[in-house]
Amino acid sequence: MPRLESPVARLAVFLLSALFTPAALAQTIYPIDRAEMLAGSRFDFKVEFPGRVTAGNARVTVNGVPYERAFGKAGLFLEREENKEQSALILRDVAVTRPGPVVVEASDGVNTARVTWDVYTTPAARAKNVILFIGDGMHVAHRDAARFLSRGMKEGKYLGELAMDDMPRMALLSTSSTDSVVTDSANSISAYLTGHKTAVNAIGVYADRTENTLDDPKVETLLEAVRRVRNMAVGVVTNTEIEDATPAGMVAHTRSRRDYEPIVQMYFNAKPDVILGGGSAWWIPKSQPGSKRTSNEDVIARFQKEGYDFVSTDGELKKTAPGAKRLLGLFHLGNMDGALDRKFLHKGTVAQFPEQPDLPDMVRAALTVLSKTPNGFVLEVESGLIDKYQHKLDWERAVYDTIVLDNAVAVAKEFARTHPDTLILVTSDHTHAVGIVGTFDDEKPGTELRDKLGVYQEAGFPNYPAPNEEGYPATVDVSRRFAFITAATPDYVETGRPHLDDPFEPVVSCATEEDKAKKQDRWCANEQNKDAPGAVLRSGLLPRKFPQGVHSMESVIVNGQGPGSELLRGHMHNTSLFRVMATALGLGNVATH
Ligand SMILES: [Zn+2]
Repeated sequence: MPRLESPVARLAVFLLSALFTPAALAQTIYPIDRAEMLAGSRFDFKVEFPGRVTAGNARVTVNGVPYERAFGKAGLFLEREENKEQSALILRDVAVTRPGPVVVEASDGVNTARVTWDVYTTPAARAKNVILFIGDGMHVAHRDAARFLSRGMKEGKYLGELAMDDMPRMALLSTSSTDSVVTDSANSISAYLTGHKTAVNAIGVYADRTENTLDDPKVETLLEAVRRVRNMAVGVVTNTEIEDATPAGMVAHTRSRRDYEPIVQMYFNAKPDVILGGGSAWWIPKSQPGSKRTSNEDVIARFQKEGYDFVSTDGELKKTAPGAKRLLGLFHLGNMDGALDRKFLHKGTVAQFPEQPDLPDMVRAALTVLSKTPNGFVLEVESGLIDKYQHKLDWERAVYDTIVLDNAVAVAKEFARTHPDTLILVTSDHTHAVGIVGTFDDEKPGTELRDKLGVYQEAGFPNYPAPNEEGYPATVDVSRRFAFITAATPDYVETGRPHLDDPFEPVVSCATEEDKAKKQDRWCANEQNKDAPGAVLRSGLLPRKFPQGVHSMESVIVNGQGPGSELLRGHMHNTSLFRVMATALGLGNVATH
């Protein structure tokens, strides 16, 4: 069985970087030191010189030979990049086909920087299909609360397992980025879908020093790899905006996840066979109500011309999927609504968008379309509202959407029963600073919220009703509830109660004229619920410019089943998940011929 990192290679890399640390400050080389690269995968190569160098003084070698010879072509040398006293060498769309360590050296005539890449190949394919589930922002606390609500507990033992728990393989994935211990969804999905670490807000590129967000050195996405190697089908399914970072990771190359309009064009360039989600505001012409485009171009019509069937409601999705070769479904102008609103409370934007499909049904439709292709497929599925709701400290909605994720995983496991050559992976992209510390019990004496908080033996068990056949209790408004707390917040009013009206809005803007002049944000507690029984104003820890809860650094869990899942073990870097998928699909196997 192939090991992902050999101890010898690790030691060698450590010794090299220890030896060359002073020189490494000279030039910046992309891909970066210790990059793991699938043999044959396409990437952009860039050297950034800190000062101005003439082409004659710059010397760049790959395993000791001039880079032009190693890569088979010369790059663009910019003596004054962006009209600054800094030089750069850029070489687009190259590949290394031979596996092994690759040492790249870049000298400006005085200092030499050096990086080592680990180029790996893979054995022959063992999996035909890969389905990757992302519970965006999902912490283990969300999973535990979902298991409690969805399966129940008696005398400290759960009465059943979640579909995502009931898998044979598991590992911890750490998620830090190249520039921060705490990741965002952009660089995290980029690690999963390219195998390269990058910076916060970047997708499918290394973050270079230039202003332009669309010129950064690209790395190949999983979509590009599976199309290059085996012309496989690809699907992207989410309940957030389809342009949002996690779904966009399959197609995008940008330094800024906020490049929504360019990302729509990247969908068009990449043409995943199935695209299902929200975010139609960036697809419909500027002249249509709700559009956020800057032009009157009708992107949906362009996709239809390329053979896509277009759907915008649950009914159309179910009717169209069986006959569709390519399927585009956009069900909301922005983020779709979560399960608590769609199925029970009918709040949020459900009245405006009454026919949104459920994520499990979107997965079913995607599998119907994708499984028609003989070459196998890769499907990315995001339950993205876990993160959106948790940012707003609305844990009940986040946990109901963890159950949404689990129901979608159950659909994939059902598919795998008749298609055992399918690797299923379920993970998160980062965590939030949350935890369950006990219960709030209305029956406890006292008037303050803290009087109602039971911890240790005084917590007992929450009294949510038994779940329905889909795994959802009919209400979260019960007398003994989880005390599900967030550690890092803005100022907000805590009631210890669910938000039955609309998704929680914990803050309101309180920017002063002075703040506005400085273009600074300032957020204060939304005091709408301050008269609820026991409501307490909690002082936040976060800088006042932050309107919501933030991500945290802890590792995420990945569960897996099917061929290739046995590579999950212990702690791994998030970039290793790409290697697990590439190995299962044998994506490095052809490149060495
Ligand atoms: Zn987030």
